[in-house]
Amino acid sequence: MTPVPDLSADLASSDDETIRLALEGAQVPALLPALAAALDDASLVPEHLRPDLSVLMDPTAGLSPEQLEEARAVAFGALVRLRDEGREVDPVPTRDQLRTLLEYTSGGAPVDDYLELLQEELGLGDDPRTPSWRKGDIAPDRPFTVAVVGAGMSGLAAAHRLRQAGLDVVVLEKNDDVGGTWLENTYPGCRVDVSNHFYSYSFAQRTDWPEHFSSQQVLLDYFRSVADRCDLRPLIRFRTEVTAIELDESTMTWTLQLLGPDGEEEALEAHAVVSAVGQLNRPNLPDIPGVERFEGQAFHSARWDHGVELDGRKVAIIGTGASAAQFIPVVADRAGELTIFQRTPAWFIPTPEYHEAVPEAVQWLFRNVPGYANWFRFWIFWRSVEGLRPAATVDPEWSGGEQSVSELNEMVRQLLTGYLQAEFAGAPELLDHVVPDYPPFAKRFIRDNGIWARTLQRDDVHLVGTRIAEVEPEGVRTVDGTLHEADVIIYGTGFQASDFLMPMKVVGRGGVDLHERWGGDARAYLGITLPGYPNLFLLYGPNTNIVVNGSIIYFSECEVHYVLSCIRQELERGVRAIDALPAVHDAYNERVDAENRRMAWGASDVNSWYKNATGRTAQNWPFSLLEYWQLTRVADLDDYELL
Ligand code: NAP
Repeated sequence: MTPVPDLSADLASSDDETIRLALEGAQVPALLPALAAALDDASLVPEHLRPDLSVLMDPTAGLSPEQLEEARAVAFGALVRLRDEGREVDPVPTRDQLRTLLEYTSGGAPVDDYLELLQEELGLGDDPRTPSWRKGDIAPDRPFTVAVVGAGMSGLAAAHRLRQAGLDVVVLEKNDDVGGTWLENTYPGCRVDVSNHFYSYSFAQRTDWPEHFSSQQVLLDYFRSVADRCDLRPLIRFRTEVTAIELDESTMTWTLQLLGPDGEEEALEAHAVVSAVGQLNRPNLPDIPGVERFEGQAFHSARWDHGVELDGRKVAIIGTGASAAQFIPVVADRAGELTIFQRTPAWFIPTPEYHEAVPEAVQWLFRNVPGYANWFRFWIFWRSVEGLRPAATVDPEWSGGEQSVSELNEMVRQLLTGYLQAEFAGAPELLDHVVPDYPPFAKRFIRDNGIWARTLQRDDVHLVGTRIAEVEPEGVRTVDGTLHEADVIIYGTGFQASDFLMPMKVVGRGGVDLHERWGGDARAYLGITLPGYPNLFLLYGPNTNIVVNGSIIYFSECEVHYVLSCIRQELERGVRAIDALPAVHDAYNERVDAENRRMAWGASDVNSWYKNATGRTAQNWPFSLLEYWQLTRVADLDDYELL
């Protein structure tokens, strides 16, 4: 009788067929290094089986069918050895092993600079990012309280690390639970658009994600479980909003004004404040004339009103960004008629597995191949983040027109245009409306598994590209005079991303209000510190957003690491607080601005939340992820006035 593969079995009790079947689902560039590390056998990552990352957006990373077959055979042999020898393995590679493995995964690119970063991101062994110091060992008698504003993704990371270093931490959270954006955005279809194997903390990796791009509820549960597992809830004061923070220059401490659960006001003193309030949480309601006169029901996507009936009704959706693209297909299934108002079409990146469960075979690999989940995470990081950056960089010599910024960018444009042409082959009349006329990477990509074209081609869905003139009691009127009747309007119009830290009042040295100082053009040093506001640290501050598919969690972890480095040195040197030097801050910002102008999102004048009202790219980080990691390793106190 032929044995039946059983993917629920563990390695020790898996037969050859099960192992072969599991290997069908493997990402070879992650699998071979994991096995090579586990077996301490560099022959498992041979040069002739290296991926080729010059092949853009290739699901097999430039590996031919023959190479894939050979790689799976190599992996099969290794797994059988692991099974039959039944030995304990240590998947944590030495530095030399790591270099060999990374050379393989990177397709032979120079890797030395990445070794330490890789070690941290892999997160193998004992959480390599754990702070190596404790306040009790440096300044046991000095009181030092850090107030963290927000218990979303970055606030939780900050609270965890600060407490690991032995600091007093209090977290102020306006909501009644952790999770931030994953708590607030409950619109149907909401899910993460960065693979959740990468969109997760290095210190709390999961090997059992149910989907490649999990839904909001799964993400929210993840953040809740991290809060529980790291025992962070006792540090958090829920339903407590920070309305203002003010520096007391005589003590160099901050006074936070709090608004508690029952509306009571209270002041709290802290030696440092970490703002973890996020960038994308205050809904942007468009200034379209007449919105207040609409007689139907209306709400913003980030404040989804689940009590509003959509079934069978006429629904209008304004906006076609990342949020709207996720809920439009769901609303289309429910509404009687759906009208979508699109101002600027998005580029869609083909992602067939976008809504798919992680297959059983892949789950088997995550469970049974030591280190595979960690390498899988790094593989996503490597190929989709640094790998795509060159395609977003402006070539000043490029003469290929306004719709691309370099030859590589043009190749991406053609690939993505080809995708849209194929998707809309059955509705050529829509093509003019759905193919963008700006360069790829100038706005955020939207992932797609074919659902966008299917939705737009429904008879009961209408895509309107004509500008909106006003909202009237019965619906939306476009500038061509047409009234599009609606019972419900849903605003998928994004967030006030440029109003960093609003509506919190922030008063620093000399009584200067931060929002007045910024004047609508928020800047910070490394996105973290601000001249005149000592010991105020921002997470996800100005110019720390990534466009080329990175994970914002990576940035938050780097920022938290930097904050700890600042505080450690303050304690070691007996300094009350540190204040970023204006010259350092300004030079840094000039460099960031210049580089952002060299990127597709800075060079293009298409609408996007990446730019503020002055036209400056105030959101995005233009350099490599490696560079941000390097800049945030150790705070250089020469960049600061010591107070
Ligand atoms: P968004 O990208 O800013 O999109 C807003 C949409 O509303 C755009 O289509 C915009 O058109 C349109 N719009 C704004 N004002 C308008 C007006 N007055 N008239 C007509 N149309 C108007 O906002 P979002 O979709 O909420 O996404 C924001 C960011 O949140 C994303 O880029 C992403 O970083 C994040 N996000 C992530 C996920 C995830 O899966 N992880 C999901 C959702 C959002 P224009 O394009 O012409 O400006």
